[in-house]
Amino acid sequence: MRKEFEMTQAQYDKLLEACRPVPYMVFGGMEPRSPQQNANDAWIALGEEMGFEGMSAQSIPGKPRCFTAEVKIGTEEGQICNRDGCTGVMIYIKDRPCTCHTGNPPCSACTDAPLQCPECGENA
Ligand SMILES: [Zn+2]
Ligand SMILES: [Zn+2]
Repeated sequence: MRKEFEMTQAQYDKLLEACRPVPYMVFGGMEPRSPQQNANDAWIALGEEMGFEGMSAQSIPGKPRCFTAEVKIGTEEGQICNRDGCTGVMIYIKDRPCTCHTGNPPCSACTDAPLQCPECGENA
């Protein structure tokens, strides 16, 4: 699902900073990271912060701090669900007691447990 986002001035400044060309200097035989790599990293970091897929961001002409991006949906335990703006936190739903402590973790109750959002009931 694509959504429109607006970043704060501070986030925008940080992004511009990351996109600036780096002076070409070779340290110990290693080439510096390209501005494109730095920009990609900055977008990915911003995506983590704001809940979107960093590499899917597209700017909106005439609105420098606005962009559209694919909303990042929760696919790991502890992440925000984000399905249709859902604010649930993804957790593993175990249908039987965990026996990890009695034998070899992870037990089948843990490995079979679906990752689910308790708010909307969607499986990851
Ligand atoms: Zn277990
Ligand atoms: Zn949900």
